[in-house]
Amino acid sequence: MQVATGKSILGGVAIGPLRVYRKEETQTAAASALTAEEELARFDAAREKAKEQLRALYDKALEEVGEENAAIFEIHEMMLEDDDYIDAVRSIVENQGATAEYAVATTGDNFAAAFADMEDAYMKARATDVRDVSGRVVNILSGAEEQDALGDEPAILVADDLTPSETVQMDKSKLLGFITRYGSANSHTAILARTMNIPALIGVDYDESWDGKLAVLDGYNHCVYVDPAPELLGAMEDKRKDDLKQEALLQGLKKKPNVTLDGREVKVYANIGNAGDVGLVLQNDGGGIGLFRSEFIYLNSQDFPTEEEQFAIYKRVAETMAGKKVIIRTLDIGADKQADYFGLDKEENPALGYRAIRICLTRRDIFKAQLRAILRASAFGAVSVMFPMIISVREIRDAKDVLEECRGELRERGVAMGEVEIGIMIETPAAVMMAEELAQEVQFFSLGTNDLTQYTLAIDRQNPKLDAFYDAHHPAILRMIRQTVEAGHRHGCWVGICGELGADLTLTETFLRMGVDELSVSPPAILPLRKKIRSLDLSKEPET
Ligand code: PEP
Ligand code: MG
Repeated sequence: MQVATGKSILGGVAIGPLRVYRKEETQTAAASALTAEEELARFDAAREKAKEQLRALYDKALEEVGEENAAIFEIHEMMLEDDDYIDAVRSIVENQGATAEYAVATTGDNFAAAFADMEDAYMKARATDVRDVSGRVVNILSGAEEQDALGDEPAILVADDLTPSETVQMDKSKLLGFITRYGSANSHTAILARTMNIPALIGVDYDESWDGKLAVLDGYNHCVYVDPAPELLGAMEDKRKDDLKQEALLQGLKKKPNVTLDGREVKVYANIGNAGDVGLVLQNDGGGIGLFRSEFIYLNSQDFPTEEEQFAIYKRVAETMAGKKVIIRTLDIGADKQADYFGLDKEENPALGYRAIRICLTRRDIFKAQLRAILRASAFGAVSVMFPMIISVREIRDAKDVLEECRGELRERGVAMGEVEIGIMIETPAAVMMAEELAQEVQFFSLGTNDLTQYTLAIDRQNPKLDAFYDAHHPAILRMIRQTVEAGHRHGCWVGICGELGADLTLTETFLRMGVDELSVSPPAILPLRKKIRSLDLSKEPET
């Protein structure tokens, strides 16, 4: 058995033979026997044909992967209409007496090199697109057939790189997964793979001798096993079967809105603990990430994670969520979540101790590194920031001041940032009682019912002896939720629930009647919750 690692684009497991795809280089002779006018007429005709193909691909992609992802083919079409691109081809044909094939291939390479040198991640990613579209025109000019990357049997495709058009043209019923040596998580190929729910690994140093061998692509653990050992193969087949059961449920509800029978829509987002969970969010059709428990990054580290390390993680999550909301909760360490390198003192009552925002507001160095990382990631998606364990207006103002300070520092460094919505966790009774004032400071509230229950009922959530007393449906909690929603709405704040209670289907109706706008739950809980929401009719009197 051979194991190779890479970077997973999506969770999931694929099992099957590997097929190594070698692209044939199209010959592009430099000197033409035709006149420049004749070569340019060939170029114009090929360009028109390529545009027709791209329009057909756009329609196919629109149906299969939606407008946002299909848009790449519109971009390709626009590239073929770009004056700079056309002039560059024209000048090579006219000045060098070259064939149209040569001129297009050279222009594609030159433009790709220029894009690849740009700082901006979006523009960098356009390098593949300009090569892709130029390759299409060259193929038309030289009469080359489109290669079928996949054979007759379903396979895991292995290639140096895949262009978006190659990816979308593939017969999905035969594509089990793909592995590439190059490519970026920001590329449209990666975005398409995610959208199509195909396990994929990039950055894998593969071997041509893999062709035809059986393999397991483990998207959860970022690796591929070639010639897997029988026990591993058995375990991964079981995992795959579990995934398929999950997907069967998903298929029925995917893309359906979270809307009640009487038309009330509610947002259903996901809770995650690390970037690797995002694949699950997508598989389960989460509308966004309502709670990214960022402290897990710290807990998985031997030392304080740097701004750069955090930025890479937040950026990856934001990019993967492709414009859907990603709410990053700032460090909520302390109490049950301890990391030695923080050097925190042992406390009598850690749940009531030095934790979360209390650490952040007194250890500004730690807080600011995280906030800068979040602000930088906001240029790559719809990132929001959420502060935990808030008990007063003063804390939120202090936290916002630090955020502003970080924004100023980044602005001075010329760093790009997006709009960042600011919210707080409502997980202390004090925050509920102050909700009216707090709502005037932020754009959203998210109810942390796990802590809110422990603090309201004075029951340690870690103590199993108290389970019988831990009544998550206690009227005090439900009243607090109602009070928070009403106060939030009075001041234009949207209000969600990200504690475990949000996934309690026996309370979904109650929450919707209270006016809760969003429920954020673990990824596997998304579809059962959607099913519940879609079965409710709020126009009818509630059953007592
Ligand atoms: C909560 O307290 O409800 C919450 C969502 O945060 P955590 O469980 O991480 O404390
Ligand atoms: Mg909490």
